[in-house]
Amino acid sequence: MTARPVKPSRRWTNWAGNQTCHPAEVATPGSTEEVAAVVRDAARRGLGVKPVGTGHSFTAIATTDGVQLRLDGLRGVVHADAVTGRVRVLGGTPLHVLNPALQALGLALPNLGDIDRQTVTGAISTGTHGTGLRFQGIASAVRGLTLVLADGSVLACSQEVEPEVFQAARVGLGALGVVTEVELQCVPAFRLHAREFGADLHDVLDRLDDDLAAHDHVDMHWFPLTDRVLVKHNDRVGPDAPGDPLPAWRAWLDDDFLSNRLYEATNRAATRFPRIVPPLNTVSARLLGAREYTDDSWRVFVAERAVRFRESEYAVPRTHARDVVLAVRDWLERHRPPLTFPLELRFTGADDVWLSTGYERENAYIAMHQYHRMDDAGAFAAFEEIVAEHDGRPHWGKLHTLDAERLQGLYPRFDDFRAVRDRLDPGRVFANDYLRRVLGD
Ligand SMILES: Cc1cc2nc3c(=O)[nH]c(=O)nc-3n(C[C@H](O)[C@H](O)[C@H](O)COP(=O)(O)OP(=O)(O)OC[C@H]3O[C@@H](n4cnc5c(N)ncnc54)[C@H](O)[C@@H]3O)c2cc1C
Repeated sequence: MTARPVKPSRRWTNWAGNQTCHPAEVATPGSTEEVAAVVRDAARRGLGVKPVGTGHSFTAIATTDGVQLRLDGLRGVVHADAVTGRVRVLGGTPLHVLNPALQALGLALPNLGDIDRQTVTGAISTGTHGTGLRFQGIASAVRGLTLVLADGSVLACSQEVEPEVFQAARVGLGALGVVTEVELQCVPAFRLHAREFGADLHDVLDRLDDDLAAHDHVDMHWFPLTDRVLVKHNDRVGPDAPGDPLPAWRAWLDDDFLSNRLYEATNRAATRFPRIVPPLNTVSARLLGAREYTDDSWRVFVAERAVRFRESEYAVPRTHARDVVLAVRDWLERHRPPLTFPLELRFTGADDVWLSTGYERENAYIAMHQYHRMDDAGAFAAFEEIVAEHDGRPHWGKLHTLDAERLQGLYPRFDDFRAVRDRLDPGRVFANDYLRRVLGD
């Protein structure tokens, strides 16, 4: 298997359109052995290697001017044990392929983020998470990994075998090797009862602790320059609980027409006339009204996101959520940037994954978005200054400006991660500019 050359003019661009690179070559291996051959060959020729998922990271974490590895040929379930819930999947499997495959086995991932377009390895490599104080990010479900290392050798790791590599590679930032297989601890399939309603920001903050204790998954969308919040409470019910999905017309109206088609049109209008943003946000907040339904977990967790945006997301200690939200609100009120997208607020429990934002910490996640055609008018920078005062840990796949020096102070096992990197990739075959910034040379 050799790397398939592409024309030098062929650009790769991420989903948001804010990161671009020109890989020297693109390879599409179909097995672990083929991945190993490509890596060996590239390293011999002094080329860097970068596996890429579906390009849903907003940072430059997936960019390369060396060999880009596309793992579309490595998809699907390799082995499943429905009794233990352990499932081995190929590294290039997208979550939208994995979720129905698990459902057919009577299984599900314990928690998910709000889309399913990512690959399983892209998701775990950046610490992708959903919401739920009694749950963790997707990487916490990983029980074993198969990695192709910089010298082309293959290493399997788990809690028992190469435990240090395992702790580092679950959220590995694509810095340690190419993950070709992932073993996941799944849970029995379950349904979610979803209740969505509009609320006032201050009321929501006042009863936050009670809501987090009472509901499995709490997700909030706060419309900037308003005090309106769309609250989502998703509670787990068994797989046999009667399904009560949204009628097709309502799902289309809310999730396709209002959230995507009309939203794209209003964002385009806001791009031309930024002054309409505050009233527009008020209308948007009210259009998405109350609704209640029950469906398979993965159908409730994820939505289609067709309107492109840029995003920054930070995790802060859960108990700081209120202070951070009010500080951001205060800044937005004073500067009134034309942010058209809601800020999202989510929560997760602590985990033990070295570079997970949830490492030994219950978190509140606060995410700021802006329509991809519009400037954020300094809002992202101000947001970063606010979360910096609260030990904010940035999502590895979402926009931030932190470097290795700062990140070292935020992650107690940062140097242990770097030691594993030094051992596995001393020649920095998997490095790129982003990794040089966040991990050092
Ligand atoms: C619309 C949208 C919604 C999102 N929602 C959420 C959300 O709800 N929660 C959340 O936490 N994040 C969310 N994200 C962020 C997203 O989950 C992450 O950025 C994720 O990494 C994207 O996966 P990907 O397959 O696109 O990976 P890419 O962005 O292509 O790559 C990410 C990293 O993974 C590495 N990688 C990919 N494959 C491999 C491999 N086989 N071996 C080793 N490294 C590999 C790449 O080298 C790179 O370092 C969202 C992003 C978008 C655009």
